[in-house]
Amino acid sequence: GYFDFIYQPIFDYNKNVSGVINVAIDVTDKVLARKKIEESEQRFHNLIYTSPSAIGILLGEDLVITTANEPIIEIWGKGKEIMGKKYFEALPELAEQGYKEVFNQVYKTGIPFNAIEKPVSILQNGVTTLKYYNFILYPQKNINGEINGIGIIATEVSSQAKQNLKLKESEERFRTLADNMPLKVFIIEPTAEANISYFNKYWLDYTKQTLVEAIGRAWDGIVHADDVQAIMDVYVPAFAARQPYHLSGIRIKRHDGMYRWFAVQANPRYLPNGEFMGYIGVGFDIHEQKLLEIELTNAKVIAENAVKSKQQFLSNMSHEIRTPLNSIIGFTNVLLKTELVEKQKDFIQAIKTSGSSLNVLINDILDLAKVDAGKMTFVKQPFDLHKSIQSMLNTFDLKISEKNIELIKEYDSDIPLILVGDSVRLNQIILNLMSNAIKFTHKGKIILSTQLISEDEDNISIEFAVTDSGIGIADDKIHSIFNLFEQAGISTSSYGGTGLGLAIVKQFIEAQGGSIAVSSTLGEGSRFSFKLPFEKVAIKTEQNIELQKPSAEIKNLRVLVAEDVALNQLLIKIILDDFGFQNEVVDNGKIAIEKLQTNTYDIILMDLQMPEMNGFEATEYIRKTMKSNIPIIALTADVTTVDVAKCKAFGMDDYVSKPIDENQLYSKIIEVIKRKQ
Ligand code: ADP
Repeated sequence: GYFDFIYQPIFDYNKNVSGVINVAIDVTDKVLARKKIEESEQRFHNLIYTSPSAIGILLGEDLVITTANEPIIEIWGKGKEIMGKKYFEALPELAEQGYKEVFNQVYKTGIPFNAIEKPVSILQNGVTTLKYYNFILYPQKNINGEINGIGIIATEVSSQAKQNLKLKESEERFRTLADNMPLKVFIIEPTAEANISYFNKYWLDYTKQTLVEAIGRAWDGIVHADDVQAIMDVYVPAFAARQPYHLSGIRIKRHDGMYRWFAVQANPRYLPNGEFMGYIGVGFDIHEQKLLEIELTNAKVIAENAVKSKQQFLSNMSHEIRTPLNSIIGFTNVLLKTELVEKQKDFIQAIKTSGSSLNVLINDILDLAKVDAGKMTFVKQPFDLHKSIQSMLNTFDLKISEKNIELIKEYDSDIPLILVGDSVRLNQIILNLMSNAIKFTHKGKIILSTQLISEDEDNISIEFAVTDSGIGIADDKIHSIFNLFEQAGISTSSYGGTGLGLAIVKQFIEAQGGSIAVSSTLGEGSRFSFKLPFEKVAIKTEQNIELQKPSAEIKNLRVLVAEDVALNQLLIKIILDDFGFQNEVVDNGKIAIEKLQTNTYDIILMDLQMPEMNGFEATEYIRKTMKSNIPIIALTADVTTVDVAKCKAFGMDDYVSKPIDENQLYSKIIEVIKRKQ
């Protein structure tokens, strides 16, 4: 216990001290109470002075700085001398910033004041750094609960504040970027309904909506009704798979009611912790391109239709022109075989030549139309290249000798005897080049060279070249001579021709995977060369191949002809009689079938376009229903829509184009019959 001791002297009546009264007062409670206060003060003191938070206490209406720990002295930046001074006198800059009012408010109302992430420049060892604090100002009260000062607690939150600041900054950056982009930018919440949470300024300017009006599913009403489902068809699966998605064209309504086309690209968005946050997307205006594209598509359809009708027209025209032309040429041939005086012979020969030229021209135009329409097919049949070239060159003998020029043939003996390819087209190509060379050469020589370039097990590449010593081609014309209807100047047009030949040659060569080149010197001559690939035949089959050897063994053939045009009927009859074949000519496929059911024939020559039942239908019936294997050769005037492939597909064995070349017809009949025996 704690006691206060009082020693009281006792006086006698003489006022002498006669004794001492010793009084002991128990003050234990009082002492303990004071000790508690002291302890609490000590604790309070410790708390303040060891706290990492900055703490200061200002007392009285003048806010005298009474208590302050190191951190707060640091914030104030005036050193320890600040102690005991009036707050706003010591820190006038705070008064200037209007803090006096804030302090007064707290003092008067007793309501604490919070300030968050306040930047403060702190001078430390001569270096100023920017730190951030959360401040609390709270009322300081006396024992009676009356306000007698203000306490300040400041906690540094620099790292957090800096992070927040960074976040704000990047957000701000994004917003500025997004708002200034001439693109629609949007953010979709991670919902299958594609709810929007953000649109940039561009979008809002475009729709004249506020952000509040625009977000959510408001885009439903802005996107063209026909495109909403299309968007969802793309979005929903993309959303389920967290995949980016692209819309190549959707219509979005502008504030004036006009729809413009936009393309959209959106990518999934993730938080750093991997959480899926929906999509961020951009829409870019492709209105003009889209209109162009639509226009182009329409134009393409129109063009395709035009090509189709051109095809159809050519096909019809071909038939119409070729039918009478065939008769002219055919009867001219027949006529030439009769007894004629020399003059008549010359005239008929002239008719034949003109007819043939006309025929070539029509064939050229039709060939081009076919290549144009991608319908040109090339056969792959074994043939003897050397023989084929030789017999073609023979046809030029007369012209060469007339013009007094020399024809030289160079043939590479390393080329295998038999090649696989389209010999008819090859002849057509060489024929064109040779005709030109002869046409444009008046003296000197023409060389046709055939050279093996490369070879492997299955394939072989050959270069053909026609070199002449003719008039040559000017440098500025040489590049255009392969164009349609292009001739190398007015002077050459006097040579006749149409300007189609080289265009066809080039297309034939390129369509077969080859290439053509030309070099020429004006006045000295030209060289046209082309490379073409061929397939090789296996050695064994090479020996087995029988190459169109008309055989004398086949005689007394019974030929059935289906042909509707009377003149052609007469013509074919004369030709077949001439061959010494028995023949019967009927008007259409239907009658041909009837005949076939009762009579026996060795071969059928089948025109394709006939009334009642055409050649394809008849052939199909013969093959499928009658199950007959009788050889059938198609006779066709129409080369645009009919090709070997189609004839074969219907079960025909071969075809002969009109006007009928007697030799060709003969050898094809023999070949087919031999093959089928
Ligand atoms: P065409 O001979 O029917 O006019 P081509 O397409 O075959 O058409 O030839 C186009 C043009 O190229 C010819 O008109 C001619 O000017 C030129 N040309 C072709 N071959 C030769 C050549 N061997 N010598 C000189 N010019 C040629």
